[in-house]
Amino acid sequence: MRLVIFGPQGAGKGTQGYLISEEWGIPAISTGDIFRWSIAQGTELGGDVKEYVDNGDLVPDRLTVRLVRDRLAQEDTVSGWLLDGFPRNIGQAEALDRLTAGLGTALDAALLLDVPEEVSLHRILGRTVCSGCGRNYHVDVPPREDSICDACGAEVVERSDDNDKESIRRRLRTYYDETAPLADFYAEHGLLCRIDGNGSPDVIFERIKREFPRVSHR
Ligand code: AMP
Repeated sequence: MRLVIFGPQGAGKGTQGYLISEEWGIPAISTGDIFRWSIAQGTELGGDVKEYVDNGDLVPDRLTVRLVRDRLAQEDTVSGWLLDGFPRNIGQAEALDRLTAGLGTALDAALLLDVPEEVSLHRILGRTVCSGCGRNYHVDVPPREDSICDACGAEVVERSDDNDKESIRRRLRTYYDETAPLADFYAEHGLLCRIDGNGSPDVIFERIKREFPRVSHR
């Protein structure tokens, strides 16, 4: 199964990506997580992208597409993958088509997690993230032990780009201007799968599984 998941910031892409990855045994590849990790580790890529990520601007396509191309060439992607946060615009979607064609594969579906803007804002403002594995939490749904990730035990922190309201507003504007048009793009390709993103993570995941009964009962 090869999937992309998109939706506004705070729609729950990271959370659902994690659940899909666990259930279907495919890697959830989040370009945002990879960028944050690279910045924290002080790698060359981290240095190249830090200013964009901190300001809430999109990283230039040439860096992002190269990153995804290299990641999809790794062995754990052979039986499938889920991309979270990529593509972010039509140019990246076309680049992904070229990448999959080059690998002799194709995208199976594009999941759009639909939430109204006020839900998206509420979720972003209370969100925290594991500094180790990237798992998402929220002040309403915290880890079992204070600031310790349930999954890997690393520290759960605020995202550096979530505490600046201007950055949040910019990212949402960029989503509606650049990423939302992917809905029409994937609808035209017969790949769009719109999921209601309101509700608890479990309820939303059930909706996703209903769309893919064959896979989820494997
Ligand atoms: P995310 O975790 O998906 O919200 O991404 C956090 C930040 O990483 C974004 O605000 C961008 O600066 C950068 N980023 C992540 N994915 C992409 C992408 N596909 N294209 C450009 N920039 C990206």
